[in-house]
Amino acid sequence: MDPSADSVSPLEQALHAARSLVLADLAAGQVAAADVVSMVEDSVIQRRWWVEQWPEGAHYVAGLVAQDVQDALLERYGRWPLCPVCGSGDPHALDVEPELGPDPHWVCHLAGVKVAAVGALGSASGGTSSS
Ligand SMILES: [Zn+2]
Repeated sequence: MDPSADSVSPLEQALHAARSLVLADLAAGQVAAADVVSMVEDSVIQRRWWVEQWPEGAHYVAGLVAQDVQDALLERYGRWPLCPVCGSGDPHALDVEPELGPDPHWVCHLAGVKVAAVGALGSASGGTSSS
């Protein structure tokens, strides 16, 4: 008997968390339009298949979904998320680090800084969306 059998599986929890973290970052950048949300859904569907093949990868899905959405946005809209740290120079996107690992962060490679955890971009860019 598995005492956790009637609760949501860790896989589903990880996918749900990844989805909400990336949606939070999209909302922080004010790009959470309907078609962008569907990009997140598409990524989650693909990553569900991936993590079913490799359950240890459940900790990595947030970073992977963030990168999937970043790639999809680059094709349709342009760079996302724009770096909030460097005030001058050409606008540039943040990168996810580690690309394949737990606890993913947005980093600016120009400034060499960690900007925010994936899911916490809103608090890193001035917190204008609070309250
Ligand atoms: Zn930067």
